[in-house]
Amino acid sequence: MKYDITIIGAGVVGGMIARELAKYDLRLCLLEKENDVAMGATKANSAIVHAGFDAKEGSLKAKLNVRGSRMMPKVTEELGVKYQRNESLVVAFAHERAEVEAIYERGIRNGVEGLRIVEHDELLALEPNVNPELDCALLAPTGAIVCPYELCIAAVGNAMDNGAELKLNFKVESIEQKNGGYVITAENGEAVETAIVINCAGVYSEEIAKMTGDADFTVHPRRGEYMVLDKECGNFTKRTIFHTPTKMGKGILVSPTVDGNLLLGPTATDIEDKTDVSTTPEGFATIFEKSSDNVAKIPFNKVITSFTGLRAVGSTGDFIIKHREGVVTLAGIESPGLSSAPAIAEYVEQMLRDEMGMNAPVKASYNPVRKAGHYFHDLSMEEKNEIIKKDPRYGRIVCRCEGITEGEIVEAVHRNPGASDVDGVKRRTRSGMGRCQGGFCSPIVVDIIAREKQMAFCDVTKFGGASVINYQKTKGEN
Ligand SMILES: Cc1cc2nc3c(=O)[nH]c(=O)nc-3n(C[C@H](O)[C@H](O)[C@H](O)COP(=O)(O)OP(=O)(O)OC[C@H]3O[C@@H](n4cnc5c(N)ncnc54)[C@H](O)[C@@H]3O)c2cc1C
Repeated sequence: MKYDITIIGAGVVGGMIARELAKYDLRLCLLEKENDVAMGATKANSAIVHAGFDAKEGSLKAKLNVRGSRMMPKVTEELGVKYQRNESLVVAFAHERAEVEAIYERGIRNGVEGLRIVEHDELLALEPNVNPELDCALLAPTGAIVCPYELCIAAVGNAMDNGAELKLNFKVESIEQKNGGYVITAENGEAVETAIVINCAGVYSEEIAKMTGDADFTVHPRRGEYMVLDKECGNFTKRTIFHTPTKMGKGILVSPTVDGNLLLGPTATDIEDKTDVSTTPEGFATIFEKSSDNVAKIPFNKVITSFTGLRAVGSTGDFIIKHREGVVTLAGIESPGLSSAPAIAEYVEQMLRDEMGMNAPVKASYNPVRKAGHYFHDLSMEEKNEIIKKDPRYGRIVCRCEGITEGEIVEAVHRNPGASDVDGVKRRTRSGMGRCQGGFCSPIVVDIIAREKQMAFCDVTKFGGASVINYQKTKGEN
């Protein structure tokens, strides 16, 4: 089958574009090199919906950030994704006041609503755990937090529910022009034919652009390391606390997450290797030092895990979104790419309609709504009992730390886009995200995936490819 549009890269940008285009009567395909969606920058970032004061005025980053931040409440509600408008503060010592005032002015010019500068006493009243030596802060009431991989999974799932096709483990290796369109071939020889290509390959968008003969920009990785603290620290700050930004980024932040943990990071180190997501002792030292500048007495002994994300830093300094000969290229979608994703999708849709001749009608069956993945957790005890009566798997707790049931894990395996590895179940249900980090539940999750997908126990991986977990069962059948 020849597709009308094929999107390369199932991160939050590719996912939101797929969702936007799935409302039209189009043959739509999404290609992803990994064993799951949301495997690039989308699974490893600060999870902030930025208000929009940071980006240079007039830039695409500024325009799409402010628009994306306004769209996010409706989008997350439709997709059943956790979103909290927890507000943000850019804090400053006395010698940094001019910088905070400059950001305030820029925010006003960018169209951000409700910004104001709060002085020392009000700052301490709002956030009693900040460093008492701070002088002032910029308060952004529209600053928010979201779960980035949940947003991506829900967007892809909603696109699939509306007819889009997802091909995982499809690592694009070549793109050739044929019959007025393109043939996209994967590393394993599989090929798809399409009229239009949309390149959303994140840190690899330069390589994909070169395959289409478009190489007037570069993208390099900038590593950002994080630490995650236990849920008992989730209220340590209510708001997201940034320091005044530098040319390398927004600095080390301290922020609650929508799931009730506390997040510290990211560092900012330019590197060459686009696969290097290691964490380092130097990174941890930087996080300890810089987060303590802003927030006093952080309980560092409550760290439960750490991770690294790679920013896709483009050579122009702005988001690159352009089209040529039936190829739409999105590159340099670093922060605020998550915040902007709904607006980026809208922008690309307009580009396709207004400049590239897309005129497909909207499908009568299109449904923008997807049931929340975490609905069971939020039910009352009576409602839970009703479900358990019908399906006892919802009465069997598998992940003790997060209280996740077998029923929820089975749903995660079967619902679009279905999880087929342990990390995929983790991102959809939070099984394995608690204090013990999967020490107890992982083997049970492997068993459930194997049973539901009719795979051998030892073929279930952590995150696809060679990430084998078990070589042999020591008891029972393999
Ligand atoms: C440290 C850090 C902190 C950040 N903090 C924030 C924040 O708080 N707020 C915010 O708004 N933004 C933030 N961002 C930016 C945000 O995470 C990104 O802008 C966003 O996730 C980009 O999504 P994407 O879909 O473009 O890229 P990705 O999520 O990287 O997705 C690209 C996809 O393409 C796939 N792919 C690549 N090559 C191929 C190929 N050859 N064939 C098939 N598939 C391929 C990849 O596997 C990947 O799944 C942060 C980023 C980082 C790294």
